[in-house]
Amino acid sequence: MRHGPSGPRDQKGQPGLVSAALSGLCPRCGSKTLFSAPAGLADECANCGLDFLALERGGRFVGVVTMLLALVLILAALAVDEWLRPPLWATFLFWGPVTVATVIGGLRLYKTMWVYHQFGERQP
Ligand SMILES: [Zn+2]
Repeated sequence: MRHGPSGPRDQKGQPGLVSAALSGLCPRCGSKTLFSAPAGLADECANCGLDFLALERGGRFVGVVTMLLALVLILAALAVDEWLRPPLWATFLFWGPVTVATVIGGLRLYKTMWVYHQFGERQP
């Protein structure tokens, strides 16, 4: 189930945030150094030394984002359950990986957006 990024559309000099989040691209040099864990930012860029921790500071809504994602997933799970009435094992088999992928993907996208926003704010 891979949806390749459809390429950055002209967003006025901004690289596609989704592809940046997927590959974990540093906002300054574009190296794939932004994440050291699936959903964890690296301390700094291994290539150009940009301080990701300093940029991330203030991004304190990660917990809220996770809870919102969980809420959406629970509602979706309830809707699917009501609609298809799948056997219990199928529910777990399906929603386990979906939940993990959604939370990691959502956090990656959120953190990337935040770091890129902070990085943009600091440019002269
Ligand atoms: Zn860098």
